[in-house]
Amino acid sequence: ADGSLVPAVKTTCPYCGVGCGVSGVVAQARSLAVSGDVAHPANEGRLCSKGSTLGATVGLEGRLLSPMIGEREVGWSEAAGLVARRFSQTIARYGPDSVAFYVSGQLLTEDYYVANKLMKGFIGSGNIDTNSRLCMASAVAAHKQAFGADLAPGCYEDLDLADLVVFSGHNAAWTHPVLFRRMEAQRARGQKHVAIDPRRTDTAEVADLHLALAPQMDVRLWNGLLADLIGRGAIDRSFIAEHVNGFASVEAELAQADQSPAAVAADCGLDLADLQTFFQMFADTPKTVSLFSMGANQSAQGVAKGLAILNAHLATGRIGKPGACPFSITGQPNAMGGRETGGMANTLAGHMDFAPDDVARVARFWGAPKTSPKPGLKAVDMFEAVHDGRIKAIWVMATNPAVSMPDAGRVREALAKCPFVVVSDCMADTDTMAFAHVKLPALAWGEKDGTVTNSERRISRQRALFPAPGQAKADWRIIAEVADAMGFGDAFSWARPASVFREWTRLTAFENLSRTLNLSGLVGLSQADYDELAPVQWPVGADRLGTPRLFTDGRFQTPDGRANMMPVASKGPATACDPAFPLSLNTGRIRDQWHTMTRTGLAADLWRHAPEPFVEIHPEDAAAVGVTEGVLTRVQTVRGEAVAIARLTDRQRRGGIFMPIHWTKAYAPSGRSNTLIAPSVDATSGQPEFKHTPAWVRAY
Ligand code: SF4
Repeated sequence: ADGSLVPAVKTTCPYCGVGCGVSGVVAQARSLAVSGDVAHPANEGRLCSKGSTLGATVGLEGRLLSPMIGEREVGWSEAAGLVARRFSQTIARYGPDSVAFYVSGQLLTEDYYVANKLMKGFIGSGNIDTNSRLCMASAVAAHKQAFGADLAPGCYEDLDLADLVVFSGHNAAWTHPVLFRRMEAQRARGQKHVAIDPRRTDTAEVADLHLALAPQMDVRLWNGLLADLIGRGAIDRSFIAEHVNGFASVEAELAQADQSPAAVAADCGLDLADLQTFFQMFADTPKTVSLFSMGANQSAQGVAKGLAILNAHLATGRIGKPGACPFSITGQPNAMGGRETGGMANTLAGHMDFAPDDVARVARFWGAPKTSPKPGLKAVDMFEAVHDGRIKAIWVMATNPAVSMPDAGRVREALAKCPFVVVSDCMADTDTMAFAHVKLPALAWGEKDGTVTNSERRISRQRALFPAPGQAKADWRIIAEVADAMGFGDAFSWARPASVFREWTRLTAFENLSRTLNLSGLVGLSQADYDELAPVQWPVGADRLGTPRLFTDGRFQTPDGRANMMPVASKGPATACDPAFPLSLNTGRIRDQWHTMTRTGLAADLWRHAPEPFVEIHPEDAAAVGVTEGVLTRVQTVRGEAVAIARLTDRQRRGGIFMPIHWTKAYAPSGRSNTLIAPSVDATSGQPEFKHTPAWVRAY
């Protein structure tokens, strides 16, 4: 008002795994103007519709601003004391595995680190899992098998340099729009795009080639590609000889099936000429990046899909080179940070597994002799254990499993009968909050202060633009207060997020504990350095310059330094369609909403894209059951029923339907699609098969 310039605060978008830099200017209380941060390497000033409407989501309507026990507002000491007492009593009576934390890729790395330290180190259970289980777990397992550690080899610059980009189950135009724009810009110089997706998504619509494969046939397709590359002599035998194990066993596995293009095309439901065009493009293009995301990961064969993609790149030596890599794109803003700090039930902090030496080292670092010696329950198993009573107290942080888990109706049943449910969230009225015995108010984006890691391993700061409203606190601080009330205060006594970050980075360098995720260059950052931390890609050595690209020397993180090609066989969907449920239900995001809409639902502009839940169906399938455009339509599976508006489109493959994942009780409870999803999971990763559930539809 006085004409003085308000300084912009540089922070990071809270939505997808692109991790765009945002420049925010607070005009007045709870009013914010945002623009893309031109200095952030992930987006160079661009923002998508979600990022550019962040200013409309920072109001206080709907916020949880006070701790609550039942419907009674209480102070922090009473709330934290009750949580500590009930968890301690449950552990004393039933053991540490009778409690669990279910956390979120929305948490900052500091939050994740503290939650993991409390559960794995001081409670002594592995029962902490993250909603990244629903998103990334299959890629994590594939990376570990092939590379020896959960390492994403490439960087966004590779997307600029590639001559061919393969989108494998990845509708980047909607899910990672800023990256997609970046690649679109490269098409002017001749970059080619191939989209592998049952739906003709916006990404597929403008691609040079769209392969609308049958559901869950990705392994068949990628194995067929590898067989074709071998057949035409388009693999890199010297790279394999020097750097790769397992090629012979993969060849032997390929020989178990007819890998002729005609057979592969028939099994995948593809046009033979299109398939051969793809094989030729891949063979001819050394600078190929294969992006894979939820369409690959969310499958009972998710790990095999990832490995089949990695096999094609390892066999051709297309890894660790500019413009050439397999590239798992994360869904959430800090899915990667959770993987780093041990937010998954089957990993320890610093990318360690539960090998006895690693458990002992982490326990020494924490001074926590009770550190869990074994993994905990993964998300689907965790809620099943809540349902059958093995888990008697659960704390859900910054996520909404009553909507987002598969078979979400059963998850709601589990939470309803759980003896003690704690939910910490910034919003007061989510589907999950309805089951909370204790509600803990957490900071929202714009108030939080800490770090996140995006898909290219780039650590960026989220910085606070507003003071904490009401009694809301940072997640790491809430967890530390409960830990203190449980008697672990000495190990949870940080004053600020920079202190947590310093401890976390020391852990990555402790006794050379983390060979892959070394942040030694960030150890001992001063508060000022932490405040000013510029985006940097891990590993971070003494020069603090970071590491854009991994495996450039052909050495991997396995004991012998060689990558592993792993034989994988195509199995198709976990549950086949049948006459009662003849359609394959596929679920996913839409362009302008995020997860369960607790934030994006606040931005009026974002509703224009899709104002109500819908089901996409091919016109011929719709005609067969009397469904017409725009009618209310019942979608049913063996797990439940949802109601949505029919959208008839030939972008949908015949025999398949698509529903978005976002709708909740606040906006349209009958549109909650995850109520329909069977909890079939990948046996290794535990990731559910969100992309295929047998279903039928009828006009309502
Ligand atoms: Fe960038 Fe993703 Fe945020 Fe869009 S949602 S601005 S692409 S980080």
